[in-house]
Amino acid sequence: MRDTVGPSILRPVDPTRSPRRRAIYEVAAATGPRSPNRGGALIAAYAKAFATVCLAFGTATCSGARGTGEATPDATSEVAAAAALVSAFTGASGEWVDLTYSFSESTTYWPTADGFQLDTVAFGTVDAGYFYSAFNFSSAEHGGTHLDAPVHFAEGHLAADEIPLDRLIGPAVVVDVQDRVRPTSANADADYLVTAEDLQTWEAVHGRLPDGAILLLRTGWGSRYGDPTAYLGTELTGPDAVPELHFPGLDPDAARWLVGERAIAAFGIDTPSIDYGQSALFETHQVIYGADIPGFENVANLETLPPTGSFVVALPMKIEGGSGAPLRIVAFVPEGT
Ligand SMILES: [Zn+2]
Repeated sequence: MRDTVGPSILRPVDPTRSPRRRAIYEVAAATGPRSPNRGGALIAAYAKAFATVCLAFGTATCSGARGTGEATPDATSEVAAAAALVSAFTGASGEWVDLTYSFSESTTYWPTADGFQLDTVAFGTVDAGYFYSAFNFSSAEHGGTHLDAPVHFAEGHLAADEIPLDRLIGPAVVVDVQDRVRPTSANADADYLVTAEDLQTWEAVHGRLPDGAILLLRTGWGSRYGDPTAYLGTELTGPDAVPELHFPGLDPDAARWLVGERAIAAFGIDTPSIDYGQSALFETHQVIYGADIPGFENVANLETLPPTGSFVVALPMKIEGGSGAPLRIVAFVPEGT
């Protein structure tokens, strides 16, 4: 008898949904393993079914699944996500990349925040002869690669433990504005505000920002990470440092355009804050988080991602009621994207 406790992807779908989704389910249900303990195999069966059905339902929506190119500009987030999953779980092609900085005493935190601390509880061979290590750690929520929960700047909005998983896992797009910021030149514009026009320039090449996409902004500032003075714009620490911060960020008007005209799932950036360093009101924080869109800050290695076609998994520590949390963010990059 077919089990009914497997992953939700193999449960019967609402018959009012698309014929393609229904067909994917039917193929997967007919070919998938029957043991409820074989989740990986079930997902592989779903992926195989997707590829099969996708071929029958047209070519445009299948290009990502075959790893033959970027997501099409009009691709829906559902298709892009499924295509990336197929590539990942079938092992067809592609690689996982880490977008996370390690946490250590040298990790960059907001100037007024407590940094990361790791205290040794045990490290060495115990009397019984085996090796044992354990540590206590402490950290502010907002430091290193981390999540900003909407409640960080929007009272009554989502806390770290309340953000739906589909806002943290999904297809990603990378908007590269480093040519505007010129971070490697001596006269880099440390106070650059990324505008709605910058985002629209990207759309003119790659298509409309897909609904449900995780938008990652690459300013190039990440190349300075590891040199706190260059990265933050000041060598001061504590409250005195805050007015002296210099790094690029998202213009509040661009944030208002994103919230009003597009439907992204989450927003990440390769700087310490989604607002630029000289912000005093943190308007971009207020606008983005007021729309319950979570933020990712100090995102690493964005140069490894294509403009479209990657798939991000960004899972923060699940701090109950937290305004943010340390974040492990990774991306799957299908070959050929
Ligand atoms: Zn933060």
